[in-house]
Amino acid sequence: MKAVAVFPGSQEVKLVQREPPRPANPDDVLLRVLDVGLCGTDKEICSFEYGSPPEGEDHLVIGHEALAEVVDVGPAVERLRRGDLVVPTVRRPCRSPDCLACRSGHQDYCYSGLFTERGIKEAHGYITEYVVDREKYMVPVPPGLRDLAVLTEPLTIAEKAMGQVFWLMQHRPPWLGPETPADQRGRGLSAVVLGIGPVGLLGAMTLAAAGFRTYVYSRELPPSPRTDLVSAIGATYISSQIRDFPDLVAETGNIDLIYEAVGHSHFALQALRVLGQNGIYILTGVPGLQAFIQADPASLMRDMVLKNQILLGTVNAGPEAFAAALADLERFAQRWPPATATIIAGRYPPEQATDLIFGRPAGIKSVISFPQPS
Ligand SMILES: [Zn+2]
Ligand SMILES: [Zn+2]
Repeated sequence: MKAVAVFPGSQEVKLVQREPPRPANPDDVLLRVLDVGLCGTDKEICSFEYGSPPEGEDHLVIGHEALAEVVDVGPAVERLRRGDLVVPTVRRPCRSPDCLACRSGHQDYCYSGLFTERGIKEAHGYITEYVVDREKYMVPVPPGLRDLAVLTEPLTIAEKAMGQVFWLMQHRPPWLGPETPADQRGRGLSAVVLGIGPVGLLGAMTLAAAGFRTYVYSRELPPSPRTDLVSAIGATYISSQIRDFPDLVAETGNIDLIYEAVGHSHFALQALRVLGQNGIYILTGVPGLQAFIQADPASLMRDMVLKNQILLGTVNAGPEAFAAALADLERFAQRWPPATATIIAGRYPPEQATDLIFGRPAGIKSVISFPQPS
């Protein structure tokens, strides 16, 4: 079967033929891969900056944003049936008996760092025709989300963060009640998303759907499919090439929430300076090696204390965030049907994966699709 793999030793990325995987555990499911989204992490892995093959192997099959169909189930599989659609989660637990996170099924909070991640770290990914995995790592997908569910994994980044933010907001201003409807939690509050890539845009949709007055702030000059999407969801796009941070605050008023999705340390620190009273700052970008920058830690610290601010870093996601992402995809599709449909720029065969990873996507998210037997 076909797969797209990276070979760190010879510094190659290529289409390879591999033996189909065989189920080994009674709770294994055999999946036929339908769609796999590409993202910046794939580009880093294919540039040999990140990622590692499974132990003892010379290559890593890439791809971690997948949608698949169950084609066979082991005797101990309880929830899934042949023909079901699933999104597989990415991170698998470490083996450390002392890891409180992994031992309780929360491997996105792993302490040891010895977790594996499919398509990223020491476990093969999903840009291949068939995959085997344990049932417990699969998230069932309603059939109506067949065309959008490939966006579930990148959306979990925002969902995991917002799950924590909404919990915090019940205990600090504006003191939301637990019964506040999902689309009114951000009412009267301003949120700024930094970055206009897929993670930023999906974050903006999550915030706008929660009722925040949402702004997206990034370098890009409008118009583009990305800035069009921002307008279509009722958010406001502001280019950093036209307006600087003080200008931005003049428009937004008190910034209650910043959702960082660029991974640029200087930009992220500048934004921290404009976070408002009782503001929450969510960091999702992972910066590569960047030049040292001048900062004024005393004023940042003073602001954080005197303004009751929270800085929240977040990586990967657990099953609750996947379920929340599927629910939100359904909401996005109902509320902004044409805009939601534009997120997926196109579906392409695996032969084009390398070109797509290194090229600039025509739209927002490029997806690798495997032809299905008719
Ligand atoms: Zn990704
Ligand atoms: Zn762990």
